[in-house]
Amino acid sequence: MSHTAEIIAVGTELLLGNITNTNASEISRALSAVGVNVFWHTVVGDNPERLREALDIARKRADVILTTGGLGPTYDDLTKQTVCETFGKPLVLREDVLEHIRTYFARNVHLTMPENNRQQAEFPADCVIFDNPVGTAPGCAFEAEEVHVLMLPGPPFEMRTMLQNWAVPYLRGLSKEVIVSHDIMTFGLGESPMEDLMRERISRMENPSLATYAKPSEVRLRATAKADSAAAAEAMLVPVVKEVTDYLGDVVYGVDIPNLETVCMTHLKEKGWTFATAESCTGGQIAALSGASSVYRGGVVSYWTSVKAEVLGVPQTLLDQYGAVSEECARSMAENARRITGADIGLSVTGVAGPDPDERNNPVGLVYVGLASPDGTWCRKLELGKRRRDRIQDLAANHAYDMLRRCLT
Ligand code: ATP
Repeated sequence: MSHTAEIIAVGTELLLGNITNTNASEISRALSAVGVNVFWHTVVGDNPERLREALDIARKRADVILTTGGLGPTYDDLTKQTVCETFGKPLVLREDVLEHIRTYFARNVHLTMPENNRQQAEFPADCVIFDNPVGTAPGCAFEAEEVHVLMLPGPPFEMRTMLQNWAVPYLRGLSKEVIVSHDIMTFGLGESPMEDLMRERISRMENPSLATYAKPSEVRLRATAKADSAAAAEAMLVPVVKEVTDYLGDVVYGVDIPNLETVCMTHLKEKGWTFATAESCTGGQIAALSGASSVYRGGVVSYWTSVKAEVLGVPQTLLDQYGAVSEECARSMAENARRITGADIGLSVTGVAGPDPDERNNPVGLVYVGLASPDGTWCRKLELGKRRRDRIQDLAANHAYDMLRRCLT
């Protein structure tokens, strides 16, 4: 049976907008990976009446309630107390936890534990205690009236550690089902064309299920199977991943691969090839790869036309005739990056990232991406429209990686 969860983040700072509720999104991601459906995010201030109200609503509509924050030692840390009142559970002092907190203070803070911290050793009766190796506030979980309540601390690092070490295994233990997912990564089809292609298939699939997650030009298709064992879930996923990959063809750049750069790096290393760049509007973004030194020879960031001509060697006549934002210039930049560095592949980007059109009145979003290889030179023209400068740069860099991976495969 799948569970339905509500996340309640406690903290007045969240309501005032002083901090962002990153805990809720992290918890949601972790819960969806173990097959718990998160249907509600609630934020409530450090106020016992309103927290109680939120808990009363949550217990009627969810069978897993996960709170974050308000487990500290100060007067406004009321989560445990309010949860216990709502669910009619007594708060009990746990001597073993008290000892643990005293030791934590002695070791990490070199102080005697302040009396306030005693309340962090009080827990709902009959709960599972979630140890906190990176802070003083332990979390806990209990079941009452068929609702599982899990309480995690607010500081993100403490919350994350406890989520992975305790909350996720606890939630996994609620169900006999094992959930396995694979991400089919695509580049080049927008979200709407992908939806059109996949709608019918997605709607008829239940287990395994298929869902789309989109960024501009990039769509991740997640296939998820639930079964009695990981091996059974994997076996259910094999034909689905194959069928979808075959159906979508070369827009798929890999399965369970984080991004296009990674796939390019892998293929370059396998082939023993190197590449070089000549960038203009991406300002060195393609060059800023981590872990690429064995395959990336170097590059030139050539904003000025004079740098394109004098450093890269793009012919002045070509620049005069076609301009710097042109297919001819992109091709020449890629060929020259390859020639100067001796790399197997030269990649280039020239375009208008905005905010204003260029001196030849080329519109914002017009970008040419060039690739020169031992087999010839190619150019892709992009009309990305008027978007934010950093978005245009990201898209242009990703198109360059996409051309590179297509060339390599
Ligand atoms: P502490 O022992 O530090 O008091 P706590 O469990 O009582 O822990 P809070 O006092 O509610 O946690 O929050 C401590 C800090 O953690 C906040 O000041 C904030 O920086 C961060 N924090 C709290 N809740 C969230 C949240 N939902 N998302 C991101 N950060 C948060």
